[in-house]
Amino acid sequence: MNLCILGVTGNIGVQTLDVVRKNSHFTVLSVTCHTNISKLREIIIEFKPSYVSIGRKQDMAELQKEFPDVEFGFGKTGLIKAATFPSKQEVLVVNALVGSVGLEPTIHAIQSGRNVALANKETLVVGGEIIRPLLRKHNVALIPIDSEHSAILQCIKGEDKAVENIIITASGGSFRNHSREDLMNVTVKEALNHPNWDMGAKITIDSATMMNKGFEVIEAHYLFDVDYDHIQTVLHPKSIVHSLVEFNDGSMLAHLGHPDMRVPIHFAINYPNRLSFKAKKLNLVEVGTLEFKELSMERYPLLKLAYEAGQKKGLAPCILNAANEAAVSLFLQNKIKFLEIETIVSHCLDTFDGNVEVKLEKLLETDNIVKQYVLGEHK
Ligand code: MG
Repeated sequence: MNLCILGVTGNIGVQTLDVVRKNSHFTVLSVTCHTNISKLREIIIEFKPSYVSIGRKQDMAELQKEFPDVEFGFGKTGLIKAATFPSKQEVLVVNALVGSVGLEPTIHAIQSGRNVALANKETLVVGGEIIRPLLRKHNVALIPIDSEHSAILQCIKGEDKAVENIIITASGGSFRNHSREDLMNVTVKEALNHPNWDMGAKITIDSATMMNKGFEVIEAHYLFDVDYDHIQTVLHPKSIVHSLVEFNDGSMLAHLGHPDMRVPIHFAINYPNRLSFKAKKLNLVEVGTLEFKELSMERYPLLKLAYEAGQKKGLAPCILNAANEAAVSLFLQNKIKFLEIETIVSHCLDTFDGNVEVKLEKLLETDNIVKQYVLGEHK
């Protein structure tokens, strides 16, 4: 099997390569990276991809000189070319990009009949309405890498007609023991310190605000075709139960394991087969107790906004995501306070009209307008 890995130098990209090292049946065909050129060099030397795309054109000339046998591209065109790079063998596209930039390459991969292992949750949050019919039209599979959705997929196993509720677990993020008042002056450094999962900066902030869980609710709606009224969230600080499915006979199935993203990555890229992988085994006696608590919408207003935007459909989820992406980037640059992320997202959902028919051009335009608006207000 050939792999295309979009966002190869990011957290999920690097962990995917680690899984590939342990699975000799994969060949890395194409990779993309934004700006981490030094890490990209090591990856090219070790995995010898045929096609490499980078974020900026100015980094290309030197790389081309160093690796004359590799074809290079850049920017959005390069991302799409990587996702559709020709091969005689079957190709699985691993989308590990961060942000709405992940939408278009996913669409192109689907249109070329390629299955996509999806870690980029913004693809479904922003483009769920157009992705779902495309999957049916081209008869391709979108396999979730996100630990919660991987868990749900494994619990459902062909019994989707009998599903009554999906229950997504949440660790609570870096500030799970903080009150609303405590959140007023938290720093970027504190926000980036996630208790259970080692993840990239953007998703770690999204976990702290619970926007990440909101995105996962929208993702679950599109992946498993379950109404929002039947998607619940619950606080589970240990991150041992990765999510649950409740069936129409009162049975509940759960997926348990240590928090290690390589496990859902390994499952996704080998799907539908479950192959052997040396993960740390879970010792139930050591775990002892599993604690669950209500996830409060008052404590985490972005979760509530995500449910509302998901239910509104139209451009609302796109506005939600664009405002959040821009706000998180401002927070990471110390330009706004932590709680302003919520204020900005809420303000944008009130300001922009989302009640429009969803088309790709409209999504891209809205994504851009909302981001520019937020960034322009905080120069
Ligand atoms: Mg997750």
